[in-house]
Amino acid sequence: MPLASQSAGGQCALPLPLGTSEAAREAFERVFRRLRTVPQAPAFDIEFRPFAGLRSQITLRDGRACVRLSDLFSEAPAIVVEALAEILLARVYRLPPSPEARRCYLSWVCNPAVRERSEEIRRARGRPRVLPPQGKYFDLDAIFSGLNRRFFNGDLPTCRLGWTPRASRTVLGRYDPAHRAIIVSKSLDAASVPRYVVEYLVFHEMLHARFPLEWRGCRRVIHSSEFRAVEKRFPHYHKARARLKHAFA
Ligand SMILES: [Zn+2]
Repeated sequence: MPLASQSAGGQCALPLPLGTSEAAREAFERVFRRLRTVPQAPAFDIEFRPFAGLRSQITLRDGRACVRLSDLFSEAPAIVVEALAEILLARVYRLPPSPEARRCYLSWVCNPAVRERSEEIRRARGRPRVLPPQGKYFDLDAIFSGLNRRFFNGDLPTCRLGWTPRASRTVLGRYDPAHRAIIVSKSLDAASVPRYVVEYLVFHEMLHARFPLEWRGCRRVIHSSEFRAVEKRFPHYHKARARLKHAFA
């Protein structure tokens, strides 16, 4: 693996993929030696996993570093996996990763072709588990149709709607672009929740369908200024937000 002995800085365009978990293990060992954090290297146990997106995780326990990488990284150039190794190792050893490693990793992750591939895989693997849109107190399909008529001239293409299986109080609503799905926390399907609060949440997620995530360089813009301006047209905007903040803070 001649590429893997190069430093992470500025060579992300090299196209040779890393390939096997054995090659990834060698990359982690090389980066570990370069970082010179602690004298004793852990035993690296590295596996590519069919995660739904570009996930990577490392845990360090009893002299073993257990690394799980999305199998998408097996298609990445070796130099990118070295950069990722540096970022993960720096995290567990509480060191700052070098700016070169961050740049190298981000330039690959933010590459439009890589993003597209990641989205494709997420669509295929990560089907969200949701309950039907007809809840006990609110029907999300009816709320969606009403909002679509009122605020989008009925133009917004249909989304798949559903309630989360569990009553999460931390994530109240989300839009999943890969599946065009709007998912609302079951905690809001309650007699004590006013209809405008559920409507506001669905409206917010509908705006995510209307104004997709934007990338400015490597920065994700989730709520653009245009998004925020349209959101404020919801008649109970302030009341709904205050209610959510108060009830779920
Ligand atoms: Zn949002």
